[in-house]
Amino acid sequence: MQVVRTRAELRTALAAAPRPVGFVPTMGWLHAGHVSLVERARADSATVVVSIFVNPRQFGEASDFTQYPRNEARDLAMCEAAGADLVFAPPVEEVYVPGFDTTVSVGAIADPLEGAARPGHFAGVATVVAILFSLVGAERAYFGLKDYQQVRVIRRMALDLALPTEVVALDTVREADGLALSSRNARLSPAGRAAAPVLHRALEAGLACVRDGERDAGAVRSAMAAVLAAEPLAEPDYVSVADPDTLEELATLDEAGGALLSLAVRIDGVRLIDNVRAP
Ligand code: AMP
Repeated sequence: MQVVRTRAELRTALAAAPRPVGFVPTMGWLHAGHVSLVERARADSATVVVSIFVNPRQFGEASDFTQYPRNEARDLAMCEAAGADLVFAPPVEEVYVPGFDTTVSVGAIADPLEGAARPGHFAGVATVVAILFSLVGAERAYFGLKDYQQVRVIRRMALDLALPTEVVALDTVREADGLALSSRNARLSPAGRAAAPVLHRALEAGLACVRDGERDAGAVRSAMAAVLAAEPLAEPDYVSVADPDTLEELATLDEAGGALLSLAVRIDGVRLIDNVRAP
């Protein structure tokens, strides 16, 4: 496995790389969720590229960016074990060149949910992913459905800007107690970690409601909110039952019960998100 840090080194390494190329963009502090993406890329591709870059432009609060966990040596060992051929781990100035002054802003799909809670977040994500797609030139790139709206935003951008990389989305990897793996879980206190599976329990309660035939979206939201309310360490940011295509909040579910149930909750100060598709 080769590690490169500059655009020029990346270009040289990729010139000789067999096709197709599979690409997994990450912000590091890797876990089994990231590994599932790298393993799928390995199965699909002749060359697997992973990027490790904590993108300053997608963080609202500077403290969130500086507190983001980092451990490159451990990440590189995990990339190698999962079958990566090439890791691009650039300093900020190799991604954002001097004088950088362009932003990719995706429209309506980036407005609700995470977009509303974190102004500028998806412009930061779309911009860095556009740069990385352009630098890596992969046939396919792999993303996790844990960040469902992110997948939708990137798919929209790739289609609209005719980017030649196909976006592949994979299921959320969870701990045994249902907690979705996330780099942010490392910041949970022991009490926070014990409380955090409440997100998954709330989603399961919403899902059970839909499966029992409930079609009033407000009732499904209430069922999820009631589970969160029973956990003193949980401060809900949003509880959503939305159209899975547009991400607009639903009043009523269709006959089949198709919806995206999603949550953002602060647990002991750490903001976690999760979602499931109903029915
Ligand atoms: P991040 O390093 O948090 O930017 O995540 C990099 C990629 O890993 C994104 O496509 C995420 O959606 C994906 N990812 C994060 N957590 C999980 C998980 N628990 N299961 C599957 N994919 C995940």
